[in-house]
Amino acid sequence: MKTESQAHRLNVAFLPYLSSGHLNPMVDTARLFARYGASVTIITTHANALTFQNAIDSDFNGGYHIRTQLVAFPAAQLGLPEGAENLKDGTSPDMVGKIFYGVSMLQGPFERLFQDLQPDCLVTDQLYPWTVESAAKLGIPRLCFYSASQFASCATHFIIKHKPHERLVSATQRFSIPGLPHNIEMTTLQLEEWIRTENEIADLMNEANESESRSYGTLCNSFHELEGDYQHLYQSTKGVKCWSVGPVSTWANKGNEDKVNRGHKEDLAQESEWLHWLNYKQNESVLYVSFGSLTRLSHAQIVEIAHGLENSGYSFIWVARKKDENDNGDIFLQEFEEKMRKNKKGFIIWNWAPQLLILDHPSIGGIVTHCGWNSILESVSAGLPMITWPMFAEQFYNEKLLVDVLKIGVPVGAKENKFWTSLGEDAVVGREEIAKAVVELMGKEESIEIRRRARELGGASKKSTEEGGSSYNNLMQLLDELNSLKASKATEETNLKIEMKG
Ligand code: UDP
Repeated sequence: MKTESQAHRLNVAFLPYLSSGHLNPMVDTARLFARYGASVTIITTHANALTFQNAIDSDFNGGYHIRTQLVAFPAAQLGLPEGAENLKDGTSPDMVGKIFYGVSMLQGPFERLFQDLQPDCLVTDQLYPWTVESAAKLGIPRLCFYSASQFASCATHFIIKHKPHERLVSATQRFSIPGLPHNIEMTTLQLEEWIRTENEIADLMNEANESESRSYGTLCNSFHELEGDYQHLYQSTKGVKCWSVGPVSTWANKGNEDKVNRGHKEDLAQESEWLHWLNYKQNESVLYVSFGSLTRLSHAQIVEIAHGLENSGYSFIWVARKKDENDNGDIFLQEFEEKMRKNKKGFIIWNWAPQLLILDHPSIGGIVTHCGWNSILESVSAGLPMITWPMFAEQFYNEKLLVDVLKIGVPVGAKENKFWTSLGEDAVVGREEIAKAVVELMGKEESIEIRRRARELGGASKKSTEEGGSSYNNLMQLLDELNSLKASKATEETNLKIEMKG
């Protein structure tokens, strides 16, 4: 039995996709809904819940109405190791394919939970297009959660619509994307693989877009001051209502404990060591190097990065993934780590870094990023300029936003968009290009203007989530709207009951 106050409280179910780049911002958003009065249930699997449960427990103990509901991931059935429930756990294309498939098998259990929970609203990832029908069956609004940039979405929209890349003589010839407020030039090689080859991901993306246009609206992790021109374009191209409520990472994770625990289940044993190392560095003197949660670099590329960073002469902290013990890549990196430790130039964090905490450290002066949207927002919030090294999906558009529109990025010169499971064995960017970009970003004279703009944007990002800021207002307006919908539905139901009695 629900108490009176529970019955009046807006009851929202969140269904994040099982990949860090989707899960992290959605959990942050769910926590914000709870903070501003909603009763929130996050639906996920056991291993994924472990990556954020501490934050939920702490919110719950602080008096907020928030909890997690679990469904079992079919890892054993698919021959996956225990706990491999997130795309980031896939170490081979075969494993990634199985995890993708495992997620699709969860539709039934997810739908049964929706029925049990009877929420007033569903907030579901863009990659669950079938949830539009689930919401319709329940007679409630579905909000689509979009975890990429609106800039990228607009670019993709106009490329699919006008197909400018199909009229070129080569895949490396530059063309301008039609329909955008800025002149953005790309090559065919930089477009998403699913646009170039129309593979099965193209079907999923088409379904996602189609279901978005049939949803109540879209929640975006972005803010007006970052890509305001593209917010309007996004709404008109997609024909949807849209609320930008970001950056949710800094809004939801205020304390150090939140920041250190976010998005992982491993013990961060090295934590005090890296902190100690950074504390001894001068302000803005260290480059943070990370390629997100999915990318697995080839040995040849790792060697080039190591030499490029060393040759630049600047200090760095690099998140590298451990392979198995006998892998050459690891042996090379372990020796490199030893050398960097001795000369105090570099620090390697293995596997997973508490990124929000590191980016906030005063010694960090810039980041090398694969242009994942979350890493970009997190760096923007910290007021940091970026070296852009896009790899896959919409990351090449994000690079254009940073370099050509916002002018807070230095491109390393990446040329080809490849699905993260097929990055290949070669090095795509050489040590000279890497060192050159690092010097351009970290050399104070060269980057004065870039730094100034990044700092300004960092300030704007903080303001947007404070009372009266653009994202703050959007979230409050959305919650008001959802509460009114709930109230009018309740009134309708009461009137219907009275009519039936009469
Ligand atoms: N992340 C982290 N530590 C790591 C790697 C990634 O905390 O060592 C987090 C990062 O802060 C971000 C997310 O994982 O929130 C990665 O999302 P992004 O969109 O940047 O890239 P993706 O992993 O989806 O390619």
